[in-house]
Amino acid sequence: MDTVDCVVIGAGVVGLAVARQLALAGLEPLIIERHRAIGMETSSRNSEVIHAGLYYAPGSLKARLCLRGRDLLYTWCQQRGIAHRRCGKLIVATHEAQRGELEVLERRAIDNGVNDLRLLERAEAQALEPALHCVAALLSPSTGIIDSHAYLLSLLGDAEAHGAILATSSAVTAMRLVRNGIQICINDDPEPLLLARRAVNAAGLHAPALARAIEGFPTLQVPAEHFAKGSYFTLDGRPPFSRLVYPLPQPGGLGVHLTLDLAGQARFGPDVEWLEPGQPFDYAVDPARAAAFHQAILDYWPGLRPGQLLPGYAGIRPKLAGPGAPAADFRLDGPQSHGVPGLVNLFGIESPGLTASLAIAERVGALLAAA
Ligand SMILES: Cc1cc2nc3c(=O)[nH]c(=O)nc-3n(C[C@H](O)[C@H](O)[C@H](O)COP(=O)(O)OP(=O)(O)OC[C@H]3O[C@@H](n4cnc5c(N)ncnc54)[C@H](O)[C@@H]3O)c2cc1C
Repeated sequence: MDTVDCVVIGAGVVGLAVARQLALAGLEPLIIERHRAIGMETSSRNSEVIHAGLYYAPGSLKARLCLRGRDLLYTWCQQRGIAHRRCGKLIVATHEAQRGELEVLERRAIDNGVNDLRLLERAEAQALEPALHCVAALLSPSTGIIDSHAYLLSLLGDAEAHGAILATSSAVTAMRLVRNGIQICINDDPEPLLLARRAVNAAGLHAPALARAIEGFPTLQVPAEHFAKGSYFTLDGRPPFSRLVYPLPQPGGLGVHLTLDLAGQARFGPDVEWLEPGQPFDYAVDPARAAAFHQAILDYWPGLRPGQLLPGYAGIRPKLAGPGAPAADFRLDGPQSHGVPGLVNLFGIESPGLTASLAIAERVGALLAAA
C-alpha cells in the first residue's frame, strides 16, 4: 500500500480548487475521480454565473465565500485569460406587490457587503433592456458569466504545475480510519490501495454517502441529503437581452431566470424538481416542462413566442434541507468539527459553489493546516 500526503476525492470545480490550494502548500495531492475526465457532474451542469452574493443569509458561509470567491475568480480569469464577462444582471419585480421583496433583497445584499446595487424604476430598467417587462428592478453590475470548462482546466493545470496528480476512472469505494491516516479502496477492490495522511471528500452529490461509508467515522456527523433537479431550456433565436434577467427567488432556487453564455445564446432555468429519496439521477429534460417555463418567462419577457424553448440540459443540486425547509448553509467539516485528524468533508456545495470555489479552497487549506 502506497502512502500519500493527501487525497482529494472528486475532480469537480471544488475538488480541483482544493487540490490546487493544497498543492501550493506543498502537499502533492492525489486527485481521485471516478469518471474518465474532470468536471463531468454538477460542475458542467450549471448556469456558469459568477454570483455577486445577494441572496444568502448574512454571515453564512455561502454569503462570505461567495463574495470572497467572486473577487478571487474575477482576478483569476483576468490573470489567466479565462473567458468571462461582467455583464451584470437585473432582478425584476413584475407587479407592484413584489416591490417590497425587491427592497428586502437589496437590504440583504447590502448586509452581505454587496455595495454596487442600484434600484431602478421601470423606465430606467427598460432603457437598459427594452424588451423587459417590470415595475422595478435591482441592477447587480458585478454579476458575470464564465467559461466554466476553461476554468476547470486552468485549475487542474495550476494544481498539476504545483505537484498534484490526477487519477481518473478511479472510484473511491471504501475508506477506513486507522491510527496513522485513512485507508482508501478503489474500484471495489477490498484491499486498500492507499494510505492517506489527509483526505478531502469533495464528491459533490455523493459526499454524504461517501462519508457514511468511512469505516470508523461517526455517522452522526453526516447530514441527510436531499436532491433537487433543475432543468434548462435554450432559446431558439437571438435573445433581446445583454444582461442576465432573474425573477425574485423562489423556494429551493432562484426562479426560472435567463442567463447568457459567452456566445450570446440564452438559456432559461433551472427550475426546481425535488427527487424522491432513492430516486436515480436522470439528467434528461422533460419537454413537457416547457409550458411552465413559457408561462414564467412571459412575466418578464412578453415577447417570447410559442415554440422558442428547446429542451437543454439539467443539473442536480446537493441540498442539506428538504422541500419547505429554510435553505441550509455550506458545510466544510474539518477535524475541529468531527474530531478526525486530516479529514475534511464538504457537504451541500450547491450554488454558489462555482463562484465560491477558490474561497472554499482557501478555507479547506486552513482547516487542514490548523489540524
Ligand atoms: C442547476 C445548477 C445550477 C448552478 N448554477 C450555478 C451558478 O450559476 N453559479 C455558481 O456559482 N454555482 C452554480 N451551481 C453550483 C455549482 O455548480 C456547484 O456548487 C459546483 O459545481 C460543485 O462542485 P463540486 O466539485 O462540489 O461537485 P461536482 O462537480 O459534482 O464534483 C464532484 C466530483 O466527485 C466525483 N465523485 C463522486 N463520488 C466519487 C467517488 N466515490 N470516487 C471518486 N470520485 C467521485 C464525481 O464524479 C464528480 O466529478 C449550480 C448548481 C446546479 C445544480
